[in-house]
Amino acid sequence: MSPTPVPAPCDTLVHGAHLVVDRDLEIPGGWIALRDGRVAAVGGPADPLPAAAARIDAGGRLVTPGLINTHHHMYQNLTRAYAPAINGSLFDWLTALYPVWAQLDVDDVEVSTYVAIVELLMGGCTTSSDHLYVHPRPGFLDAQVRAARTLGFRFVATRGSMTRSVEDGGLPPASVVQDHDTIMADAEAAIAAHHDPAPGAMTRVALAPCSPFSVSERIMVSSAELSERTGVRLHTHLAEDHDEDDYCAEVYGCRPVEYLERVGWAGERTWLAHFIYPSEEEVARLGRAGVGAAQCPSSNMMIGHGTMDALRWRELGLTVGLGCDGSASTDSASMWMETRNALLLGRLRNGPASMRARDALDLATRGSAACLGWEDEIGHLRPGACADLVVWETHPVALAGALTDPVEGWLRTGPARAWHTLVAGRVLVRDGEPVAPALAEVLTAHRRAAERLQAAALG
Ligand SMILES: [Zn+2]
Repeated sequence: MSPTPVPAPCDTLVHGAHLVVDRDLEIPGGWIALRDGRVAAVGGPADPLPAAAARIDAGGRLVTPGLINTHHHMYQNLTRAYAPAINGSLFDWLTALYPVWAQLDVDDVEVSTYVAIVELLMGGCTTSSDHLYVHPRPGFLDAQVRAARTLGFRFVATRGSMTRSVEDGGLPPASVVQDHDTIMADAEAAIAAHHDPAPGAMTRVALAPCSPFSVSERIMVSSAELSERTGVRLHTHLAEDHDEDDYCAEVYGCRPVEYLERVGWAGERTWLAHFIYPSEEEVARLGRAGVGAAQCPSSNMMIGHGTMDALRWRELGLTVGLGCDGSASTDSASMWMETRNALLLGRLRNGPASMRARDALDLATRGSAACLGWEDEIGHLRPGACADLVVWETHPVALAGALTDPVEGWLRTGPARAWHTLVAGRVLVRDGEPVAPALAEVLTAHRRAAERLQAAALG
């Protein structure tokens, strides 16, 4: 392809790459020029290199759009691999951990978000949402946004919520649920303070009642109304566990998907986490409505309850992206790992001809971007896109002999890590190390917080 003209020197030029620009455009020996946080131009080996203030030699490495994480619970990295909960069911795990999370304070949320973002950057992720649904104290979303801004990360904060405690037939203790008016007032305040709908935004806000098990029907309806009024997106867990079918039948008198439709959520601003157990007809119905869903491969395997058929769901018209989900169902938050596990799960389910590395990469970039309603600007590297990209490092020992296909080689060998991660044109991982000056102090604070929370829970 011929390069887009570059009228002025760019800020950064990444050259010498196998460049994945988009799902149907790769440039061997390619370069990409960045200016003002955007992709200014891309070109091939025959095109003259534009002038640049800074140059990054990709050294023949694979360069892809930054991977996008559509489902996480960042605060849960304070209870990774937490021994009392590791072999329980989803409900056992939640019941063991809710009392721990009830002790969270604002500083805990800020350091856990900071650590989570650094971890994501090291795994090649450049945009993430976070589903924060416990709010035992005020100010949690502000703390998350502070951490993301300190690091320069593109972030979709979600105002999660729970209203139904054990006394009302839910799972969480009363200390981590809130009433309807408190939640909705806080959601409005979060949108006013942090939601930036403008192109190239670094922070957006979405509304995220936790699940059919833990919130009232009224909060789902009010969230849909607030979404309609403000344009923010809607996120929740749906069809993660078979028990949910029985719960919805008993409490709401319908199937989970019918419930979603009834509360006004079957629209193009909604993306779901997991969505493992709908019927194909239900998938197609929500696909026609414009709903998206996040497959969380490692989490699904760790919990052992099945996973969606990602490419089949996409064939049926649903938008599908990837998410890492929180600890302790994942414990490692690498979007490279999730992309690889999506490939393995797809092939395990449907056979060796069913899925290629490029299909998995497409889920983690274009698919995830569409789940967040952001596919115009992120998830690809066409001129005008946000300058969010990854120069990948696969260890030369792991990559030895992988000569014929750089994308298959990247995902089949490994583990791969980000050699450089750029967000909005800024280098946030350089030579494999995060550019995060406060990291050592934050890790110390994180360690103290994790010790305090876990010690309190263990008595
Ligand atoms: Zn989740």
